[in-house]
Amino acid sequence: MMLNSLPAALLAALLAVAALPGCAQTAQPALATYADRLAPLPAAPKVEIDVTAAPAAKPWAERASRLAADWFPHICQLLATDGFRPPKALKLTFKPKIGAPAYASGSEITIDSEWIAAHPDDFGVVIHEMTHLIQCYPGSRSTPGWLVEGIADYIRWWRYEPEAPRTPVDPDRAKVTDSYRTTASFLAWTSGCYHRGLVRTLDKACRDRSYKPEIFEQATGKTLETLWTEYTDGLRRARGR
Ligand SMILES: [Zn+2]
Repeated sequence: MMLNSLPAALLAALLAVAALPGCAQTAQPALATYADRLAPLPAAPKVEIDVTAAPAAKPWAERASRLAADWFPHICQLLATDGFRPPKALKLTFKPKIGAPAYASGSEITIDSEWIAAHPDDFGVVIHEMTHLIQCYPGSRSTPGWLVEGIADYIRWWRYEPEAPRTPVDPDRAKVTDSYRTTASFLAWTSGCYHRGLVRTLDKACRDRSYKPEIFEQATGKTLETLWTEYTDGLRRARGR
């Protein structure tokens, strides 16, 4: 979707909903929570592209390749925890009709060439899938899928393109486990109000197979349920409900 093709009123409405609700009065972050330190920036990976099955995708693939080389180290840095070793190379493969916009496996991202032909500005899909390559969590029943997708969309929508329009979260219907943009928005709000390093903490727990909902309380002093209630109450206040 191209922003400049939208009517001005619709664009304004979409951009407005990208904002997060304010923090509750008791939720102002202490100065110490801003002291979350980033790991050193790793080297850019070698990025290979394969457009054998979709030659027309080559110009987009070349741009995506540069984006991947630029952003992969930043995503590694945003999620880096002790002992994490980022992959040194990745591959972008383009094919028609793969049944999804894109998916990630091992060190490879497969992207639907028809999707990007119809959505030529959707480079954010590469960011989301690159996050999955870096997550690459070991299998564990304790690692919830909603959180894995929420972290990938947090990196995409709140780190790579926070200004981009997106579907608003409906506080009366949404659940924290809805994953993708809903969970991502909640993670962004909780990070900003309570703990700047929250997503890194959650990522480490998923990597260590030690995730449990109590991690939210350990990091913020409030349970996951209480945080979700504060977040959705803030959304309702922002919309005058
Ligand atoms: Zn995903």
